[in-house]
Amino acid sequence: MKASKLRENFHTWLSLQGIDTGDAVLESSPISYDYRGSRFGNIFLVGEAAGLGSGLSGEGINQALVSGQEVARMIMDPTYKPEALNSVIRFNAIQNKFMRVLYLAGIFRGLIIELILLLMNNKYIRTRVSNAFS
Ligand SMILES: Cc1cc2nc3c(=O)[nH]c(=O)nc-3n(C[C@H](O)[C@H](O)[C@H](O)COP(=O)(O)OP(=O)(O)OC[C@H]3O[C@@H](n4cnc5c(N)ncnc54)[C@H](O)[C@@H]3O)c2cc1C
Repeated sequence: MKASKLRENFHTWLSLQGIDTGDAVLESSPISYDYRGSRFGNIFLVGEAAGLGSGLSGEGINQALVSGQEVARMIMDPTYKPEALNSVIRFNAIQNKFMRVLYLAGIFRGLIIELILLLMNNKYIRTRVSNAFS
């Protein structure tokens, strides 16, 4: 849906919940998710600087923490294998593929979202998805 419609729905939901946001202004901010690598010679990138945010959900705190720890270990031990970092990269790649599918779905995007919502009523699927995201 259009951003304006999303905003309108959000305000409707806020008033239904009885939440007063006062004079707070809605703002957006870009998320860096274009990961190209963590190591460039003796330069290391972590978190959003490395493009490790999620383009799908906008989350990036866990990726920032994991990549920071992993890069520190890589600097201390050049033979260190950053498995936690690789798993964050894999997870982000899956999310980006999913986002691409939604993008390419065009007019069917809403249908896919509705289907996902329907599937999420199933406890088994809901648990699997929730585990994957946490
Ligand atoms: C509105 C919004 C909501 C979000 N909500 C969530 C959420 O619910 N869950 C989630 O997981 N993620 C969320 N994120 C994403 C998350 O905040 C970021 O992915 C995460 O903070 C990235 O951490 P970082 O350490 O890589 O970068 P940052 O948190 O951006 O830290 C980089 C720091 O470096 C400093 N800096 C920059 N340049 C220099 C310089 N030259 N010298 C010294 N310091 C410098 C900056 O001031 C900043 O403090 C949200 C982001 C936004 C914008």
